[in-house]
Amino acid sequence: MDAPTVTDSRIGIIHVHSNYSSDGKDSLETLRAFALARDISWIGLTDHAEDFTADRFAEYVERCETLSDLKVRLIPGLEFRFAGFTGLHLLALGLTHWMEPGTPDDFIRDARHASRFTIAAHPVLCDYQLPVSVAESIDAIEVWNAVYNTRFLPDPKAIRLLHACRARRSAVVGTAGLDQHDSRNDREIRVLVALGEMDPLGALKAGRFVSVGRTMRLEPDVPLAGFQLVALTLARMALQFAERLQHYGVTAFRKGLAR
Ligand SMILES: [Zn+2]
Ligand SMILES: [Zn+2]
Repeated sequence: MDAPTVTDSRIGIIHVHSNYSSDGKDSLETLRAFALARDISWIGLTDHAEDFTADRFAEYVERCETLSDLKVRLIPGLEFRFAGFTGLHLLALGLTHWMEPGTPDDFIRDARHASRFTIAAHPVLCDYQLPVSVAESIDAIEVWNAVYNTRFLPDPKAIRLLHACRARRSAVVGTAGLDQHDSRNDREIRVLVALGEMDPLGALKAGRFVSVGRTMRLEPDVPLAGFQLVALTLARMALQFAERLQHYGVTAFRKGLAR
């Protein structure tokens, strides 16, 4: 596959919350304007399922449809949590039918019919432990989450989890998500599909995409070798250390001023 580049691709963003989520700031109209201003042509929405009812979801799907045209597509989707599975958040993108899964197994079963593309989000939160049904059937693992894993570098442990899943099932891919709740803070992670791809979620499922962040491009199989993952781990530690230093520096400076 020739990897799409920014100039010859349809730019998308995934793992995006609107104000249909209780902690989301942006209306669907604002997200559309955000996309238009940045040449983004599709948005994979993932609002919190617990903030919906069947009726509200039907309205949401309809509004996404109304606000979509050839320039920008708002693709409805939800993020699900499960009692007894702390930190396990599963995303169903391209969700057209309401579903209310009580367990991860229910999610996998229901999403097969109701959703186009599923992602295990920010695996750091569930300590990289996926239930067997999820590991066996999920379409993607979010190896780079702009919120939990710093905006600069992907998560090497999530990449190792992806590699372990891929050893059993090569169709599972690695994705990068914004986890955006407020479009005033654009963490600049994008998903590129080829210009001719009018069905971006189909392209994601087929592994015809590339994730692009500020520092790295990731192919769907994230083919980083062991030593590269070690380098990534060290780079992230250095970055966290630098951020902490900066934090202490600013605090000390403020204290100095206050004196
Ligand atoms: Zn989440
Ligand atoms: Zn989220």
